Amino acid sequence: MSPSASLKATAVVPGVGYAPAVWVCPRPELPHEGEPIAGGDVDAEVERFRAAATAVSERLAARAGRAEGNAAEVLLATSKLTLDRGWHRAAVKNIKSGISAESATVAAIEKFVEMFKAAGGVMAERTTDLEDIRDRVIAELRGENEPGLPAVTVPSVLLADDLSPADTATLDPALFVAMVTELGGPTSHTAIIARQLGVPCAVAAGAGLRAIEEGSMTLVDGAKGLITVDPDPEVADAAVAEAARMAEKIAAWSGPGRTADGVSVQLLANVGDGNAARIAAEGDAEGIGLFRTELCFLSAATEPTVENQADIYASVLKAFPDSKIVLRTLDAGSDKPLAFANLDHEDNPALGVRGLRISRSSSGLMERQLDAIALAGEKAGRGEGAPTWVMAPMVATLEEAEWFAGLCRERGLTPGAMIEIPAAALMSHDLMKVLDFVSIGTNDLTQYAMAADRLSPHLAYLTDPWQPAVLRLIDMTCKSGRDTGTPVGVCGEAAADPLLACVLVGLGVNSLSAAATALPGVGAQLAEVTAQQCADAARVALDASDADGARAAVRELFGLE
Ligand code: PEP
Ligand code: MG
Repeated sequence: MSPSASLKATAVVPGVGYAPAVWVCPRPELPHEGEPIAGGDVDAEVERFRAAATAVSERLAARAGRAEGNAAEVLLATSKLTLDRGWHRAAVKNIKSGISAESATVAAIEKFVEMFKAAGGVMAERTTDLEDIRDRVIAELRGENEPGLPAVTVPSVLLADDLSPADTATLDPALFVAMVTELGGPTSHTAIIARQLGVPCAVAAGAGLRAIEEGSMTLVDGAKGLITVDPDPEVADAAVAEAARMAEKIAAWSGPGRTADGVSVQLLANVGDGNAARIAAEGDAEGIGLFRTELCFLSAATEPTVENQADIYASVLKAFPDSKIVLRTLDAGSDKPLAFANLDHEDNPALGVRGLRISRSSSGLMERQLDAIALAGEKAGRGEGAPTWVMAPMVATLEEAEWFAGLCRERGLTPGAMIEIPAAALMSHDLMKVLDFVSIGTNDLTQYAMAADRLSPHLAYLTDPWQPAVLRLIDMTCKSGRDTGTPVGVCGEAAADPLLACVLVGLGVNSLSAAATALPGVGAQLAEVTAQQCADAARVALDASDADGARAAVRELFGLE
């Protein structure tokens, strides 16, 4: 790429990183089936295989030693699986039949992938780990760089076509000062994890990213989605210094959320289990705005009992004993299938039987979950001052909202709904007559408003919650909220974008829920602007003709170049 060339990507995590670029090493090409052993020495080939697997396992174990928590566990488990006797026996048997260590590895892993898939549940989830091990062993056998995250020793800007969740989960934010992917969207795994880690990030940079050579000094502005290669060092240093000043403001900020003129905006956390809730409680979160209950059961083969569910929900409720908590009922289906609830096959699962539709079509599933939520409230000893709100995902009609609200009220629960289908935004006034609150799921609302798959690596320009069409649906929902006196929150990824958060507040959103790590950035930005400036930002964003135009108009209004 020519000096000082810039590339535009989709902005995801604000912040600036300036460092040499490193590329995630590509996956190796797989060998042909049944490739013979070069030279024909079977014993030497078995030895070569064992040495390669041991080297890979040791490297993973060493990385586990440097990692913490979940990441360390993932790496250690993969390190052990690399030396698993079962697949090694199969590989050695293949080598003894005369095929190369590379081909033997592929065949042995393939056999175990099939077995793991047939076993289902947690085992089935480990097939990607097996394929990862296969690629690492093959690269080692060939003397190529290990695929996945490069082992860097100095701060670097990470470039990739896309990242696997495992790679992103083990990424050390001290060594990777920014990341950019060629593919991926603002709600992809890469984006969600980058946000949790607080690493400046831009996605969907397109094929132009490939032109950035390893080692080129690269400046990434995660707020603008701008990547500049070999920038003027003075300009780059100034951008880093400015970002550091903002980081200082973020570090100095403490909740609760409010604008510069003191208008309060509740800042809540999105969580998936008790552990995440406890971590959120240690930070600035004023409560939980989205507990994605389905994430607790992704590997459950059968429906957990009411008692089991209640224990899990109680672990989240206990993390915020005196604060608001919003639980979402199972949002199974599409990108989050549950073995005990999903239909076997659907041609178009994002538009299929998912969310509320699944809970309704599986006899008693919703009722049992609501019983468990009510029981969890008792177990956690929640009283008057600690509202427990329950919302249903994927509500499209008034009749669905009435059905859900009825079930909640029978159990003394406060009913609400996600506004994540355009129909729900259009009908929000009617829905609010039977519901006590709504929370806008901007990830799906954008997907459905723009008819663009949120998982598509090619449609990031459409799956962008700054799209004025999406903002207009939010505006409509907020107007309904004002008319009916119903609280309106946002719990999609849009709430994690500090500038967009100002727009949302200007539109009339009362609470924002995001990854706990994103809250200080949002809070610090809100503290810089008045409610009137937020309203002005909302107006210019609504009037823009596309997502980039909306962003640029708000930046200009706030005097950000
Ligand atoms: C959303 O759609 O914005 C949302 C918060 O729900 P999820 O991302 O879990 O679909
Ligand atoms: Mg959703």
